[in-house]
Amino acid sequence: MGGILVAIDGPAGSGKSSVARAVAARLGVVNLNTGAAYRAAALLALRENVDLADGEGLAALARRVELDPEGASIDGARVGEPELRSPDVSAAASKVSAHVSLREVLLPVQRAAAEKARAQGGGVVEGRDIGTVVLPDAELKVYLSAAPEERARRRAYQTGREGELDRIRAAIARRDRQDSEREISPLKPAADALVLDTTSLSLEEVISRVLDLAIDLRGQT
Ligand code: C5P
Repeated sequence: MGGILVAIDGPAGSGKSSVARAVAARLGVVNLNTGAAYRAAALLALRENVDLADGEGLAALARRVELDPEGASIDGARVGEPELRSPDVSAAASKVSAHVSLREVLLPVQRAAAEKARAQGGGVVEGRDIGTVVLPDAELKVYLSAAPEERARRRAYQTGREGELDRIRAAIARRDRQDSEREISPLKPAADALVLDTTSLSLEEVISRVLDLAIDLRGQT
């Protein structure tokens, strides 16, 4: 017996990370941010000058990546958040994640981390394809969306780069396009996901909607 798994998917700036972190903390379960694994693979590619179009080369790099509740590790060493979240790594992550070969390496890594979380009492797992591909049997699936303008505003505010709103808006639009148009595991809601447009909801409103559902489900298992 273990706890429930909550899958939270959505585009950049939809509030996934903040919601997932808060819901996990309030449920007292593990939070897994799967984007960290893609970011770590992208960071390695940039560090080691591996072509972002070289699927096999990228897959080899991804074998050195691990995912856990604190984030991602490369060759067993923790990678710092600032390094993982730089704009260059964000853009590269979206490119490397379009390769089937790399996703095949990271899929079992994510599933194993999620099952470990389940065994320890449950988990909130966030990404782009968690409800559709990584954890199709998750007890609760949530897909968060928000208008692109609002997502750019949130990201600018979050990172203290309010003066760069135009650049952030363009980078988000590029990532949206890449993530939704790729052939493998495109960003889209699972058929059985609760789709929440958060454009005019406060963070707290979104957190309590997801939390209420998770608590209900947990009570039923
Ligand atoms: O969620 P985050 O913005 O950190 O993810 C970085 C990139 O990793 C995304 O733009 C997406 O291309 C990729 N990703 C993915 N599948 C996931 C999580 C992230 O393709 N489950």
